[in-house]
Amino acid sequence: MGLKETFVLPVAKRWIAGADVDSAVADAKKANSKGMGAVVNFLGEEIKDAATADAHTEEYLRLQQRLADEGVRGFVSLKLTQLGLGADDAGAASRLERIAENSERVGQPLWIDMESSQFTEKTIALYLSSLQSHKDLGVVVQAYMKRSEADLKVLLDSGARVRLVKGAYRESPDVVYRSREEISANFARLMGVLFERGKGFAIATHDSKLVEGAKTLAGPRRGDFEFEMLKGIRDELKGELVKSGFAMSEYLPYGDRWFAYSKRRIMEHPSNVLLLLRSLV
Ligand SMILES: Cc1cc2nc3c(=O)[nH]c(=O)nc-3n(C[C@H](O)[C@H](O)[C@H](O)COP(=O)(O)OP(=O)(O)OC[C@H]3O[C@@H](n4cnc5c(N)ncnc54)[C@H](O)[C@@H]3O)c2cc1C
Repeated sequence: MGLKETFVLPVAKRWIAGADVDSAVADAKKANSKGMGAVVNFLGEEIKDAATADAHTEEYLRLQQRLADEGVRGFVSLKLTQLGLGADDAGAASRLERIAENSERVGQPLWIDMESSQFTEKTIALYLSSLQSHKDLGVVVQAYMKRSEADLKVLLDSGARVRLVKGAYRESPDVVYRSREEISANFARLMGVLFERGKGFAIATHDSKLVEGAKTLAGPRRGDFEFEMLKGIRDELKGELVKSGFAMSEYLPYGDRWFAYSKRRIMEHPSNVLLLLRSLV
């Protein structure tokens, strides 16, 4: 075991399930026992070679089977560049087709994460073409992207299922809103559209104000949506929402690329750096 595994992995397990599929299934079961669904992601992105993209595909097929065999209430969420999008678009499309077919076979929905802006157009295009033959397929829309309002309209016109997030990548001000206020305002606007027209959508934020906004829009009928939050963030809020009867799923990343993902979570919140340092002394 290396230094990273010895010192950082125990802290990183706050945000990731672990390095292997067993840890992902175990965490998914834990989420289920707390009244939450599980959204499971095998970490990795921007895969350029066919052998690795094939290996990621096999991993997802195995993961879907394990979730089904073990009776887990959960499903896969993947990144298209894991399947080779950007390097070999046709290859990525055929790998997605295999995973989407398998998700139907095991009776699970399948979701596609949204990556940096260079992949937005291709992700939406591949999503929309797959949606024609796989109805239980969802895609992420990022509120920080200026194009998202128009994208959301096109997606909903096609019957898409959408997960709304703020957006996590470093982007140019030409394509994204940069201030917290603008991003939150656009999130609220897009959320309004989803509550009006969306079906089976997800509101994925840890922002209390936006969560309150969603609760108000949902009203007493609650509606056809769920909250989704990342593992290790706002656990008390997750519990409160479950207790109040809202559907909630926890996003559980796993895999040997856990270090890069954990670094992102640590850096976006100063208190997490302290948490890491404290574990080292
Ligand atoms: C289920 C799910 C799926 C996602 N999928 C994608 C995707 O496909 N593409 C994409 O670009 N992004 C994705 N994201 C990430 C998203 O874009 C944001 O980067 C992330 O959710 C933080 O934004 P926020 O809405 O929680 O608001 P923020 O303003 O970042 O956070 C709100 C509050 O949450 C708490 N919080 C947030 N982050 C942390 C942290 N690391 N540690 C401790 N507390 C924290 C703090 O209290 C903070 O004030 C996803 C997020 C979720 C929950």
